This record gives sequence, structure tokens and C-alpha cells, in this order.
Amino acid sequence: MKLAQRQSMIDSSGIRKVFDLAAKIDNPINLSIGLPDFDVPDDVKDAAIKAIKGGKNRYTLTAGIPALREEVREYYRKRNIPFEDVFIASGTSGALMLVFLALLDPGDEVLVPDPYFVIYAALIKYLGAKVVPVNTYPDFHLTREALEAAWTPKTKLLILNSPGNPSGVVYSEEECRMAAEFAESKGIEVLSDEIYEPFCYESDFVPPSRFFKAPITINGLSKSVSMTGWRLGWVAGPAKLIKAMTDVQQYTFVCAPSIAQEAALVGIHHDMTAAREDYKKRRDLIYNGLTSAGYRVRKPGGAFYIFPEAPGGDAAKFVDAAIANKLLIVPGNVFSTRNTNFRISYAASRETILRGIEVLEKLAKQFAS
Ligand code: PMP
Repeated sequence: MKLAQRQSMIDSSGIRKVFDLAAKIDNPINLSIGLPDFDVPDDVKDAAIKAIKGGKNRYTLTAGIPALREEVREYYRKRNIPFEDVFIASGTSGALMLVFLALLDPGDEVLVPDPYFVIYAALIKYLGAKVVPVNTYPDFHLTREALEAAWTPKTKLLILNSPGNPSGVVYSEEECRMAAEFAESKGIEVLSDEIYEPFCYESDFVPPSRFFKAPITINGLSKSVSMTGWRLGWVAGPAKLIKAMTDVQQYTFVCAPSIAQEAALVGIHHDMTAAREDYKKRRDLIYNGLTSAGYRVRKPGGAFYIFPEAPGGDAAKFVDAAIANKLLIVPGNVFSTRNTNFRISYAASRETILRGIEVLEKLAKQFAS
């Protein structure tokens, strides 16, 4: 069968290699997956069961059930984030797909701070638009110089992701204001993916979208209440865009899962303090383990990833050696134009993180000699 040419734009080999290996290795030390390691809270589960038993099993309105859309509106009013309308999607990934479909033409350029969440690059390329990486190494923060250097008259959109995957960077208020000023001066749109909002360890979360006039703000419940398999995300943004996304959803996803939408009415109110404290301890554990083993690494302010430099400078080679020791991590070239760093997810048990540190200590010695 001859597949569409655009299919060649999707390269999932980097991450798939790690997943395939995970299935083959006996008792792997899996620090590769960006998945909360706690289960959906009981009250959210109960809400889903109640929804099923109560007959909430049919199509919903295309843009989402009115009660959840109102909760999402309230969510952004409280956070002082400008928007005109809101939309419920099948996960944040579903939301990203619809935003890109509604917004991007072939040839449009999208500024993507590098390193980036892998889906952004894949989807943008799939639509024939162009990913323009914005260099953020070595500290993963935005600079006006890097943004200006990446901009061309074809630039349509800037993507922001704070706290960020894979670096764990958290943008400062100053940095967000600078990015907003830049976007405004160039007349480009901004999409802010704020899915790791609950996981900021050093300071309160500063939503980048707060500083833009008409941001496209994306969030969801996969990372907060662990509903990864239920597929629930949302978008707040300009009415014209939400209307366009609703038109596309009508002919594709139809609606976000009804049961997940009902459960989200409860999930959206969950207090994340305990989970945040827990992740912070794990962040400290892995950061201290890495630094005392001699790794060059930035302390991440949020999310549940850390992105150290690979000793020897070749991350793919380093990750192969890690995998030979049963340690599953992801080489940076999956998320970046560079192959210098590797991603560790510390959304894992303390015991798994400690086993991982042991291997990393061994590898540091091996790669130093
Ligand atoms: N954005 C970022 C930055 C992510 O890391 C992820 C999940 N890995 C998502 C979006 C997708 O989440 P969802 O399950 O809501 O599609």
C-alpha cells in the first residue's frame, strides 16, 4: 500500500525504540514515560461511574457539555487570562491537532522553543507547515535574540510550554512579558500549553498566556488527576478559532468522551498540593543524584522531567549504554535539533529513581574514562 507522502513526516522511532525495549527487558528501570504514577482520585472515578450509570453515554454538544465549558471559563477568569470562548477536546493532544488544523496553512512557520514536546513538531510538519526551532540551550529560557533570529515574515505562531517537557523549565514573568511584546510587535499568534501547571516547585505558576492579548491557552487533566486514558483537554481563545475548531471536531472527533467530561467537573477542582510536594521530593532526589555523580544539569523548576547533558556529548550513544543496563531514558534528539542531552522522567517510585541513579553513577564513570 502506498501511504500519503505526509506520513513520512511522522517519525516516532525514537520513543518507540524505548517502548519496544521496555517490553522486552525483564524488570526495567523505567524513567522514560511522562505519566503520573498515581491513579485517578476516587471521587473522579466515582463521578465517571455515576455518569455511565446515569446514562451520560451519548454524543455531547460538539464543543463540550455546557457545565464543563462554564467551569473552564471560570478557571480562566480566576487566573486573569484573556479569552473569548472555550472548547472541550479529546485530550490536550486532540486540542493541539484541532488548533493546528484550524490555524496553519502549508508553508506557515511556527516558532518552537527547542527542546520541545515531540507532538508539536510532528503535527506541524504533518500539515505541511514548518517548525522553526528557537534555541534555548543551555538554560532552556527564552531570549529576545533567539526569538528574533528565528522569526521571518512567514511566522504565524509561537508555541510556549511552561512548565516544559522535556526540560522542566518554568518561565519567569519577565520572560513571558518579553515573549508577549515580541509576539505583538510581529503580529503573530501564541499557543500556550500549560498542562504541567500544577507542578511548579520553586514559585507559584505564572501562566504565560496572561500576558498576551489573544492567547490560545491549552490545558487538560492528564497530568493533574492522571486521566491520561480518558482523553480530556480544553482550549480557551479567540471565538473565531474556537468556532473553526468546533467545525473540524464535528467532522472528526465529534465530541470529547462524555464520561470524561462529566468526571472533569470534579477533576478540575482537585487540590494538587500533596502531589506537588511529592514530585518535588523526587525532583530533588534525582537532581542531587545526578549532580553528585558529576552530570551537568539544570535544576528543573517544574513538570516531572529533568534534561541533563550526556557525558561524552552523544546522547543517543549514552542512552544505548543506559538501556544495556536496563535503564530506560530518552535521547534528546527525539525532542530537539540537538543530540546533547537526555530526558529522565521522575514520575516514578522512589525505589525506581534510586535504581536509576545507581546506573547513572556507573555510566558517568564509564563515559568519563
Ligand atoms: N503537552 C505536553 C507538553 C505534554 O507533555 C503532554 C503529554 N506528554 C501533552 C500535552 C498531552 O497530554 P494529553 O494526554 O492531554 O493529550
